[in-house]
This record gives sequence, C-alpha cells and structure tokens, in this order.
Amino acid sequence: MAKEELECSFCGRKKPETSLLIAGLDAHICDRCIEQAHGIVLEESKQSDNSELSAELMLRKPQQIKAFLDEYIIGQEYTKKVMSVAVYNHYKRLLQPPTNDDIEIQKSNIIMVGETGTGKTLMAKTISKMLNVPLAIVDATVLTEAGYVGEDVESILTRLLQAADYNLEKAEKGIVFIDEIDKIARKSDNPSITRDVSGEGVQQALLKLLEGTVVNVPPKGGRKHPDQKFIEVNTENILFIAGGAFDGIERVISKRLNMQALGYSAAMSEDTVDKDNILQYIIPKDLKDFGLIPEIIGRLPVLTHMNPLDGNTLRAILTEPKNAIIKQYKKLFSMDDIELSITEGALEYIVGKAIEYKLGARGLRSLCEEILTDAMFELPGSDTKKLSVTKAYAEQKLSKSTLKKLKAVS
Ligand code: ADP
Repeated sequence: MAKEELECSFCGRKKPETSLLIAGLDAHICDRCIEQAHGIVLEESKQSDNSELSAELMLRKPQQIKAFLDEYIIGQEYTKKVMSVAVYNHYKRLLQPPTNDDIEIQKSNIIMVGETGTGKTLMAKTISKMLNVPLAIVDATVLTEAGYVGEDVESILTRLLQAADYNLEKAEKGIVFIDEIDKIARKSDNPSITRDVSGEGVQQALLKLLEGTVVNVPPKGGRKHPDQKFIEVNTENILFIAGGAFDGIERVISKRLNMQALGYSAAMSEDTVDKDNILQYIIPKDLKDFGLIPEIIGRLPVLTHMNPLDGNTLRAILTEPKNAIIKQYKKLFSMDDIELSITEGALEYIVGKAIEYKLGARGLRSLCEEILTDAMFELPGSDTKKLSVTKAYAEQKLSKSTLKKLKAVS
C-alpha cells in the first residue's frame, strides 16, 4: 500500500485527516479511535466494578449478611439484623438504575450506641470485609471546625482515599466509621456564648458529608502539604456508620421512660423495663437531649444499640468467632509445632477476671497475652511440643499487680 493511501481501519479516515495513525500487524488506528476506545474501556471497567458489588449483593440478602456477621460477632442480634437491612438497602440504592419516578431512596447511615468494647468497630470492619469495600475508621474527638487546631472533617475522606489505595471510585463506595461521635455533642444547652469548635461546629461540618456532597480533599491530608492538588470526592454513596458510648445517656432514657409511665399513654410500666439494659429503649430524641443536633440525627436515620457483654458472651468471644483469640494463639503455637490446649476451667477463669476487673472484651486479649507470654518466649526451639493451660497455670501467670496494671490501661 502506498504511504499516502494509509487510513484508519476503524473509521476510515485517511492519514492526513488524523493527528496520529498507529500501525498494527494488518491494520491502523487513528488518535480519535484510540480516544473513543479508551472511553469504552473506562466505562466497561466502571460497570464491572459495579457488577462486582452487585454480585456480592445478589449473593447476600439481608439474612445472609447477618449469617456472615454471625461468624465474627457474638450476640448483638438486634444490631446485626438492623445493620444487615441498612447495608443491603444502602447498596441497593447505590445500584439502582436511574428511574423516572420521583422516588429517591435516601441514605441509610447508621448510628450505634453502646459501651466501649462491645463490638461497634468490629461490626463496621466485618461489613467492609464482607463487601470488600474500603473502610476508614476515624475518631471524632480529633475533629475540629476548619481553621482550628485539630483535623478538619475532610481528613475523614483522606483516610478513606488512603484505605482505597487512592482509587477514587472505590473510595466513593466505601464505608466510614466515625468513632466516639458522642464526644462532639453540644457541651451545654445554651448554644454560642463561647464558640464550641470541637462540638456543635464539627457536627455542622459533618452534616454535608453525611448527606452527600462533593468535597475537595487533600490526598495527603492535613495542612502540612499546602501545595498538593485536591481530589474531588463525592460522598453520595459512602456509607457512614457512627458509634459512641454516650456515657450517661441511660439517665436521659430512664427519665423519659418514667415520664411516659406517669402519663396515661404509658407504653411501658416500671416493671416491664429491663433496668440492666436501658440502652435498648433508645430513641432519636434521647440523642438530641444528649447534645447531638437534630440535623445530624436526621442524617443518621438508622439507630441501634449494643448490649453489654455478659459472662457467657465473653466466654464465647474467646473461642467461637472465626478468628477468635484462642484460635489465633493456637495457630501461633502450631507454627512452632507446639500444640496448645486450654481447659474450660482456665477459660472460665479468664472470663471471671475480665468481669471482676471490668476489662471487657478487649481485656480478654491482654489477659491471654499475660498468661501466654512466658510460654511464647520459652517454648519455640525447645523440646516441649505440648502446652496445656489449666486454671492453676493461668492463676500462676496472672499476679494481682498484673491485673491492676491491665485495669489501669483499659
Ligand atoms: P467498640 O468499637 O465497641 O469499642 P470493638 O469493636 O473495638 O469495640 O471491640 C473490641 C474487641 O472486642 C474486638 O476486637 C473484638 O475482638 C472483641 N469483641 C467485642 N465485642 C465482640 C462481639 N460481640 N463478638 C466478638 N468479639 C467481640
């Protein structure tokens, strides 16, 4: 073929009509067709990203989501159910094809109220593991209003971008867990005598994020890198899960329940109230009375509570979850060909100490660590290939001073 007759094999443009014509084995392609093909590739990969997620959801209906949570989280039946529905609805909303009816499904952001160590973070982590979406865990206590010492709320999205390896599309479908949301409650009922930069101001700043907006995010975060280019992140499809202990909210709930009981419309009389678990009666108004602004509460429409962990639950946490603490230690020892066994008596003893010293579920790990450290130091490389931890062994390893130390750090 003479040189001047060369043309694009896709669109037929002659070489002089193109800016660039690239030769293949038996064909040529022009710059415009390359651009177009690139667009198609991008579009396709976007769709396959979505279909990955939808495949995940097609596979898992709410009951299956809960079954997955059951593998990792002991108890907390109510929250697991509520979460399964909220997460399912959230991603259904995200995958809905554009329709021309006016029904717009709103976000199902979640707020979990429960003592520390009852599994709130674990819940968010497990959901993100199941869906294979990035998760950012942020602490509300470090957030301040823009311009003050502390982190701007945009830093939340920097974390999410980092968790998504800077894949914007993935980040925009991710999950943000905001821990200690109760710490940004309004400090007093009297707004604005002095500015409340770490309380109501932060709540105001969070509003837009929760609702869905496009935010300019510094990819490296903070104010240390003033020259960085911003990345535009759309929070429309990001699922926000907030958690907090809301210390003292039981009083607010009890007060309300008592007032209801006094009125004739009493839904619950004194004797039907389970006083050991007042949190289960929480309603959005209680959060308002605690100091969250109504707009924030409105944007976290799914409210749920975590139950306190009793002895049976703590016992189950030691051995039952898929990656239970004891299973992890067994694996560690087995890597040195050492077979670890723990008697029921020892397990009961550990649970007893966790309760006595109010160490909660987090304390279980520290207790096991204290009991097993000597063995983990001495046994690898030795002739001992079996370790049986009995109650007596555990007692011997856990002195009073160790327990006091654990209590101090918990
Ligand atoms: P929170 O966020 O409520 O303070 P976490 O989710 O961080 O609590 O829980 C602390 C640790 O306790 C977790 O790493 C987990 O191992 C354990 N844990 C707490 N609650 C449960 C539970 N219900 N089931 C299994 N493990 C739990």
